Amino acid sequence: MSSKQQVESAAIVLDCRDHGESDLIVTFFCQNHGRLTGIAKGAKRSKKRFVNKLEIFSSLRILHTIPPNNRLAFIAEADLLDGYLALRKNIVCYTTASVIRELILLATKEVEGDEELYPLLVYAYDSLNTNHPPLQILILFLIRFYAIIGYSPQLESCLQCGQEIQTHKSYHFQTGSGGIHCSNCATKGTTPSIALSRGTLKSLAVALNQPLERLHRLQLSTASQQEALSFLHSYGRQLFQREIVSWAFLEKA
Ligand SMILES: [Zn+2]
Repeated sequence: MSSKQQVESAAIVLDCRDHGESDLIVTFFCQNHGRLTGIAKGAKRSKKRFVNKLEIFSSLRILHTIPPNNRLAFIAEADLLDGYLALRKNIVCYTTASVIRELILLATKEVEGDEELYPLLVYAYDSLNTNHPPLQILILFLIRFYAIIGYSPQLESCLQCGQEIQTHKSYHFQTGSGGIHCSNCATKGTTPSIALSRGTLKSLAVALNQPLERLHRLQLSTASQQEALSFLHSYGRQLFQREIVSWAFLEKA
């Protein structure tokens, strides 16, 4: 296929910035090509073609080229599929969507994706836009996101003794080793850990294994949500070796 050939993709806008007087540089994520960055020529002038479409979080149908060797794609046209207006109006939903966006940008490279990541992203933004509890959506997104990028935390059994989640009421997530210790083994170590109850671990296992369309049935208690978020945040920081900047806004929201 020629690099000039245009293809049509459903995509979520992850980033958009000015380029010169009249162009926009847009990073988007789509099913077939993963993450792509392209230039929308004249987008700041051509009100008809692009106005109010090329905004972060927006779901679009884009007509674009697939560039060779990390060069910019050319974005010819964009149609708005969903502007996610409700998501934008709620501060917690907006901040949750920002955390998801930041993590996808951290975890992916250009023209690199996974066929499971785009549907998960759309699931998360659709759910945030339709009044589902935002923190629970973030938990469901994150536990599957880490699995998709190949870094699923080890939550099925104790890292030390290998015993499966069953007997103990509480377990201890060891951020450094990416897994849990049962309460027998945890006392032997001195490294800081995050408490996770057996109930939370069981819910997370369900969240990981259910088909996306059935995830909404899962209800996590407030205590489980707090435990899960605390460990998912700490694990993400460890994985990417940096702070997840938008998470701070989540704590203030
Ligand atoms: Zn153990």
